[in-house]
Amino acid sequence: MIPAPFDYYAPTSLAEALTLLQRHGDDAKILAGGHSLLPAMKLRLASPAVLIDINKVAELRGIKVNGTVEIGAMTTWSAIEHDAALAKACPVMAEAVSLIGDIQVRNRGTIGGSLAHADPAADMPAVVLALDAQIHVEGPNGPRAIAAADFFTDMLSTALEPGEIITSITFNSLGAGEGAAYAKFPHPASRYAIVGAAAYVKMENGQVTACRVAITGAGPKAERQPAVEQALIGTDGSADAIAAAAAHAGEGMDMLGDIHASEEYRRAMCKVYTKRALLKAVERAR
Ligand SMILES: Cc1cc2nc3c(=O)[nH]c(=O)nc-3n(C[C@H](O)[C@H](O)[C@H](O)COP(=O)(O)OP(=O)(O)OC[C@H]3O[C@@H](n4cnc5c(N)ncnc54)[C@H](O)[C@@H]3O)c2cc1C
Repeated sequence: MIPAPFDYYAPTSLAEALTLLQRHGDDAKILAGGHSLLPAMKLRLASPAVLIDINKVAELRGIKVNGTVEIGAMTTWSAIEHDAALAKACPVMAEAVSLIGDIQVRNRGTIGGSLAHADPAADMPAVVLALDAQIHVEGPNGPRAIAAADFFTDMLSTALEPGEIITSITFNSLGAGEGAAYAKFPHPASRYAIVGAAAYVKMENGQVTACRVAITGAGPKAERQPAVEQALIGTDGSADAIAAAAAHAGEGMDMLGDIHASEEYRRAMCKVYTKRALLKAVERAR
């Protein structure tokens, strides 16, 4: 349980962090909250020769709400959970984050670290997919934005290129007629999602005109649920319409099976938690 030796840097600006990352290449790892990286290092599943700790990079922290929402990559779960303006603009963020781990995890874990790590059981990937968020990164070729829909490529894999650092996450504030919700079946010890479902719904004149649903925990990566979304759009968002749409949850997904839950059980829970998330999202949209 002791990590291999490593060199440690604590840059105070993004430019300095990017320079260090470029200099050390594949030998280096960014350190954010350390809640995924340090356990992996202690188990020697990861042995980076260089750690670049970005906790002192103030420009990567903070939440701005102004029609759109911008959350710095180094913003902790706790800061997200307790931000009043964010709670008003997009209540699903605090709802989902309050279900992550425990207070210690929420005090250290960061949104950027979670998205970069892309744990198949992490909550935030489903939420950023349902909100159609943009993930902003900066690297040797300058800044770029990656749509959440293109970001998660496989288990623990993302569209981040070597040398890139996530800088922030942006999405639209929710307006009149819009609602979003997150429902999760947590692992009883870690609280990671055995299955989690995030839903966004827009309603106009009593009809669902837009819908995005994403599931985490069930497969190797968080995934949008196009069959659910298409089944709900154009309906009145009634409990029956939601149940019929949620019955498509998990369609086309590779299900994970492990000691915690079989493939069959996860597939069943996809439908249950999608229905719960949609019921709440529609209620909030009305
Ligand atoms: C006991 C326990 C329970 C947990 N329960 C949950 C849960 O219920 N739900 C949940 O979603 N999560 C859970 N987590 C995970 C936790 O919430 C953190 O989000 C997660 O560990 C990663 O964030 P971090 O800031 O700790 O990243 P780190 O561990 O510091 O980094 C993780 C990876 O991301 C890379 N990285 C970090 N920041 C950046 C960046 N800005 N740009 C590019 N790469 C970067 C690192 O190099 C590393 O490879 C739990 C963790 C623990 C220890």
